[in-house]
Amino acid sequence: MNEPRNACVIGWPAGHSRSPLIHNYWIGQHGLSGEYRKEAVQPEDFAAFAKALASNGYAGANVTIPHKEAALALSQPDERAQAVGAANTLWLDGGALKSTNTDVEGFLANLDASAPGWDKGRTALVLGAGGSARAVVFGLRERGMEKIHVANRTIERAQALRDRFGERVMPVTWDAVPGLMASANLLVNTTSLGMKGQPPLDIDISGLRGDAVVADLVYVPLVTPLLAAARARGLPTADGLGMLLHQAVRGFSLWFGVKPAVTPELRKRVEDDLLRS
Ligand code: NAP
Repeated sequence: MNEPRNACVIGWPAGHSRSPLIHNYWIGQHGLSGEYRKEAVQPEDFAAFAKALASNGYAGANVTIPHKEAALALSQPDERAQAVGAANTLWLDGGALKSTNTDVEGFLANLDASAPGWDKGRTALVLGAGGSARAVVFGLRERGMEKIHVANRTIERAQALRDRFGERVMPVTWDAVPGLMASANLLVNTTSLGMKGQPPLDIDISGLRGDAVVADLVYVPLVTPLLAAARARGLPTADGLGMLLHQAVRGFSLWFGVKPAVTPELRKRVEDDLLRS
């Protein structure tokens, strides 16, 4: 048996995270002797907990609400975590606590898997300008998108994305969205609209090109009304659950030294869990 290694998700509360389901599935699949746990840690205790990761027996951790900014400040972040302004994955490298933000590669890898060739287009329309939009815009820039229109209810947050990521980001108000549909190769919803318990995402996608790709970060419900409308038009889609699964790959690789696969069986397990809740 190999040497046991453990990892965890640190949150407050930590109750809703699907990360244990995902990582423990991979631990079993690869025959590793370790465990992925949930750690409910209050904000005032986070710094001490993060500094003691190794002595608590952890190779690393995921970090969720409300600790992502604190994790960035306490660690040595890579370019992605710095650009996004939040860290969601910590690992120990020698004595150093390092961090990254895996939402960027989760978003990109999910598009690559679900809609291959999506990045041939050069114009994106991003709805929302919150935390996840920062990861999405950074990823789109990295993959060569030339025009990234960002529509947000609070226009100042979209403008802050242009300040952060440069001129390729074009902040627009919500009422500009219908007029931008025809030029978008990719439409991404990063708002919480359409999520269970939230208001609906009230947009008409009939103006989208016939070869546009549609992505939604929301994964409860699994098929959002936006994705259902896109599929009804025969457009390729990338869903929020796919992003959630793909973003977990890098953390597992860093902690356990094996690159895991996002399999249909894993997806089914998480789908079943989401449908039960
Ligand atoms: P956030 O930072 O709180 O941002 C929320 C965004 O939604 C903002 O742009 C906000 O606009 C907009 N919004 C909320 N209510 C609205 C309303 N009533 N009308 C118009 N706009 C509204 O949240 P986040 O972290 O970016 O997360 C957003 C969604 O993505 C959540 O559903 C989350 O679960 C999902 N997500 C999924 C993954 C994944 O792996 N699939 C990863 C990250 C996030 P204002 O700026 O005007 O408030």
